[in-house]
Amino acid sequence: MFVDIAKIHLKAGNGGDGAVSFHREKYVAAGGPDGGDGGKGGDIIFVADKNLSTLADFRYKRKYIAENGEKGKAGRGSGKKAPDLVVRVPEGTLIKDAEDGRIIADISDSEPAVIAKGGKGGWGNTHFATPTRQVPRFAKRGAEGEELDVTLELKLLADVGLIGFPNVGKSTLISVVSEAKPKIANYHFTTLTPVLGVVRMGEGSSFVCADIPGLIEGAGEGVGLGHEFLRHVERCRLLLHVIDVSGSEGRDPAEDFDKINRELSVYSEELSRRPQIVVGNKCDLCDEEQLKRVREHFESKGYAFFPVMAAIAEGTGELMNYVAAELQKLPPVKRYEAQAKPKEDYLKPKTRTFNIRVCDGVYIVEDAPWLLDIMNDINPEDYESLQYFERVLRSSGIIDALKKSGIAEGDTVSVYDVEFDYVE
Ligand code: GDP
Ligand code: MG
Repeated sequence: MFVDIAKIHLKAGNGGDGAVSFHREKYVAAGGPDGGDGGKGGDIIFVADKNLSTLADFRYKRKYIAENGEKGKAGRGSGKKAPDLVVRVPEGTLIKDAEDGRIIADISDSEPAVIAKGGKGGWGNTHFATPTRQVPRFAKRGAEGEELDVTLELKLLADVGLIGFPNVGKSTLISVVSEAKPKIANYHFTTLTPVLGVVRMGEGSSFVCADIPGLIEGAGEGVGLGHEFLRHVERCRLLLHVIDVSGSEGRDPAEDFDKINRELSVYSEELSRRPQIVVGNKCDLCDEEQLKRVREHFESKGYAFFPVMAAIAEGTGELMNYVAAELQKLPPVKRYEAQAKPKEDYLKPKTRTFNIRVCDGVYIVEDAPWLLDIMNDINPEDYESLQYFERVLRSSGIIDALKKSGIAEGDTVSVYDVEFDYVE
């Protein structure tokens, strides 16, 4: 089963307590303090594993607890450090704080990431001997390990994403250009999970292509199938937009194309600006004249257009050569930046003050210096970042207050220097 979202609980190990102990030897009445330090608690570390392709394992095991450090011992013996707990996830997994949704890490290369830090071991009483306190009867406790709930969200790492209506031939295309063998059939939604395929183009120009289930109208708003898969094309550098040029199901390919693009922009403005190549499939089912019209339509809009017959791999080689050449010019697959933990005070509701003033139909949010700090950390180009901003607006009560002031769909909200349209 394909699972691409999971919520789990992490608890790093506590540090071991420091020891209180005094040196004892025959004939030595009272020796000095010799209690050793406690060992550090285990960290919880996430690493990418190329052999994993889903988060299915996390549906069954939801608690990850690292061991505690060992207590300090007599004779200045330090407690042993607890082993780190290593959690393996598929490449491309985002780890988010389940409470506020901020991104903690993007596990998409070989770099391991410490997500929950083990507590430091406490100092033994040896550290507490001072000239005036020769007999320290106390030691420090080990520090608590970090504890948090995180959401794991898989966003596939692929250079190229196939998008388009169901049944236009996306799965057929990936199956003829790569080793991927998704299910192909003449009915809608045969592909229920995203499939990755490597397109081998020789030294240095091979790339990864993702076939995602067909989108339908309303997908961008989460209606029906599709929305949940859009996250898998978010990192793609280039989109291949497949259309059925013959309109064999009584649909208009140009209309289909526009519908899908509307879905993309509802989901993410950034994604809708990703370069697209139009793949006109099922050329065998339409005549020259019809093909010419479709081609002219897309070329006049500035798209590269490739007529193919995916079923017999006609035209697909040429298409892949073009894709490989385009990829050379595009930035690498997107990596998400970790978002800084919001400053402690701003999480406390009482300090999240604000005032709303309506001026010439514009809803101005002011007297909220804390919001200004958060906005400085936000990248308006980034979808994840905007989602986070929206959550802040909601949790702080600003959205509710705007509603109370009578805001309606499409009205302008102004927050310091940023203006945006209010959307329900
Ligand atoms: P998807 O839903 O977009 O993944 O579409 P599929 O790849 O599952 O294909 C849907 C149907 O279209 C299948 O019956 C394919 O055999 C058929 N098909 C794919 N490519 C072509 C083509 O070039 N010509 C024709 N006539 N049919 C095709
Ligand atoms: Mg398919």
